[in-house]
Amino acid sequence: MKFVCPVPRLKYDQVQMVHGAGGMAMGQLIDDMFLAAFDNPLLRCRDDAAVLPNQWAVSTDCFVVDPIFFPGGNIGTLAIYGTVNDVAVSGATPRYVTAGFILEEGFSMVDLRVIVASMREAADDAGVQIVAGDTKVVPRGKADKIYINTTGLGILQGPALSVHRIRPGDLLIVSGTLGDHGIAVMSQREGLSFETDVTSDCAALFDLVQLAVDQGKGAVHACRDATRGGLVAVLHEFAQASHTFIQLHEAQIPIRESVRGACEMLGIDAMNVANEGKLVLAIAPEGADAVLRAWQSHPLGRQSAIIGEIHDEGVGVVINTRFGTQRVLDLPVGEPLPRIC
Ligand code: MG
Repeated sequence: MKFVCPVPRLKYDQVQMVHGAGGMAMGQLIDDMFLAAFDNPLLRCRDDAAVLPNQWAVSTDCFVVDPIFFPGGNIGTLAIYGTVNDVAVSGATPRYVTAGFILEEGFSMVDLRVIVASMREAADDAGVQIVAGDTKVVPRGKADKIYINTTGLGILQGPALSVHRIRPGDLLIVSGTLGDHGIAVMSQREGLSFETDVTSDCAALFDLVQLAVDQGKGAVHACRDATRGGLVAVLHEFAQASHTFIQLHEAQIPIRESVRGACEMLGIDAMNVANEGKLVLAIAPEGADAVLRAWQSHPLGRQSAIIGEIHDEGVGVVINTRFGTQRVLDLPVGEPLPRIC
């Protein structure tokens, strides 16, 4: 039987928080508003980075995380790693970043200095230079402390990885435990704070992508960092772009016990929670073992696992649960945790 997840069309007269939450509402806003107005072949590819003439790859991202400091990083760390990772998942080597700051009147200069120092540190770690920027200040109460926009440029050595290269038969590899970033941020959120040992996984993922490309020898088809919307959002992007059906195996999906516990308490699923240091790879089976071994011997990929495979009979995502049942993983209207990046 052909399996197709139904996708309802949502109607809104005003922008809501879900429009920034990495789920169905955001996807439909992008389709109906931005893609409709700006449409062109590069944008239509819908990959994390657009591939420009002369093998340049470009990506841009805004950061509004709340709180701005959290275990494992801050808004500045995220602003660099988030953008360079979106360039890296195309297969390109990140080289340059621009940074735009929107600051609220009264924001602490000490905090700003810490954030900027973190950006410099993250840029050095990722091998990029920050080469242009912009600063705007708005009156007290008209923004929440600090927002950052970063744009990243990288150079491709070979063909770009793309969701359009995904084929039935491909296996799915995840580079480690899911949900760490979202839970680390939520543990510090005002009105919600709870005790956990989880820290954000935010990190530069270029090395892992290159390891996969080198070891996979042409078998690597698509790669995404599982940020806002988590694993489920990435898999829906894979399924929609390649018109395929994705089957996951719950027992193989790495999730920390502490994240699982926090998710149960919050009533959410770790597979929908944001990561800032985890990749999802679609790869032809002949390359999977070599990439898995390479990732497992890298500090950022020790808990990598093959978590599912891609089929041709439909469009959507289904999981085989630990209890031997099957469950459809719908794309939520929005991630349950707003302002997570
Ligand atoms: Mg991304």
